[in-house]
Amino acid sequence: MKIAVVGTGYVGLVTGSCFADLGNQVTCVDVDRRKIAELKRGICPIFEPGLEEIIRRNRNQRLFFTTDLAKAVQNSDLVFIAVSTPPGKKGEVDITNVKAVARGIAKSINRYKIIINKSTVPIGMGDIVTQIIIKHGPKDVSFDVVSNPEFLREGSAVADLLRPERVVIGATRRNAAQKVAELYKPLRSPVLITDLKSAEMIKYASNAFLATKISFINEIADLCDKVGADVLQVTKGMSYDSRIGGQFLNPGLGFGGSCFPKDVSALVQIGKSSGFKFRILPEVLAINQGQRRFFLETVRKTVGKVRGKTLAVWGLSFKPNTDDMREAPSLTILPALTAAGARLRVYDPVSIPKAKALFKKVKFCKTPYEAAQGADAVLLLTEWNEFKQVDFQKLKSMVRQPILVDGRNMYDPQEMAERGFVYRGMGRGEVATF
Ligand code: NAD
Repeated sequence: MKIAVVGTGYVGLVTGSCFADLGNQVTCVDVDRRKIAELKRGICPIFEPGLEEIIRRNRNQRLFFTTDLAKAVQNSDLVFIAVSTPPGKKGEVDITNVKAVARGIAKSINRYKIIINKSTVPIGMGDIVTQIIIKHGPKDVSFDVVSNPEFLREGSAVADLLRPERVVIGATRRNAAQKVAELYKPLRSPVLITDLKSAEMIKYASNAFLATKISFINEIADLCDKVGADVLQVTKGMSYDSRIGGQFLNPGLGFGGSCFPKDVSALVQIGKSSGFKFRILPEVLAINQGQRRFFLETVRKTVGKVRGKTLAVWGLSFKPNTDDMREAPSLTILPALTAAGARLRVYDPVSIPKAKALFKKVKFCKTPYEAAQGADAVLLLTEWNEFKQVDFQKLKSMVRQPILVDGRNMYDPQEMAERGFVYRGMGRGEVATF
């Protein structure tokens, strides 16, 4: 199929590259000229495992990059909208980019097209896109608008896109939905064809549910700390129950990234503007912010006053295997520690180039050991695999004090005690040994 993907970020670039890899002819469009110039040279602007290889394999054969929306639309049968939908001032969804693309499509549409919304958009956006194209487009060209929300996770985006657990397609006409479903046929995943608004809602409901699960277990973890239980034993015991399952029960610093915080806030606002007041979701967001404060309190309780202390920070991105810093816990935790007078030595395997623009007054280091040099404590914020294989003897010889505050429960408290470390996890209760 001939496809245009508008918006060449985490979602658009992965979508476009993978569809090209499946044999389609894909043109990726973006307004960011620098990004497009890099991609034309085969440089991948984001860190996403496996993506660069797919781009190299398909570039200039089935995968093309341009800033020319009109040309890309005219040469395609299917046009995906995968632009950013950032949060507005009150947490509502800013749909400016989607509307701009819809107007651009309207101005260049030359024959029947299926316009597919992959961006996460408020319920009813499919109708808005339809109205924009009717208003600004030619009267004699027909089109369909389809919703195809994306569920990929940064860090495993390529694998998720090529092996989705489900594909959701919302449309007003079944033919259009089936045409989009054909694109996914080689992936052999379950496909749900539904109406536009239900498809748009499925995305928000899924993300809000997952965020709720995280905030739920974080509250249980906080209570575990108070009553002396070990939350990891608790989640293990819970997970044998198939109604609960074991996934997304990892207590820690709370969720971050470009989706959960934004989408939960957006759903609250969508509720408000429809005369519906969510009770659970504002709490989910509040608990999430509370986890960052809880971690800072744990640091203060373990290290004492941080003024004048040197702290090593391991991990900056919002989760491992991505360089995405959006809504990362580090964005709250680092400034709070710096403001309290701590000297920070920070390390992250991939996100330092992005982090340099975000954090002032911190020393960026090339290895976790360099960061730990002379530190009064090591603070782990992101559970990168690299931190699983730490040489603790070496680490102990480099730090000023062997204290490790683990925001992701990566290590075993008993083992850390045996290695001679003062260890604090999240919700590990009395198991933490001093
Ligand atoms: P991103 O910020 O990484 O990329 C968006 C891209 O769109 C940018 O390159 C930007 O320059 C481009 N853009 C903005 N306006 C444009 C316009 N008018 N014309 C052409 N290009 C334009 O965003 P993302 O993370 O890829 O997210 C895109 C959408 O997908 C959002 O709605 C997001 O909520 C949703 N989503 C994201 C993820 C994720 O893990 N990142 C997962 C599922 C869904």
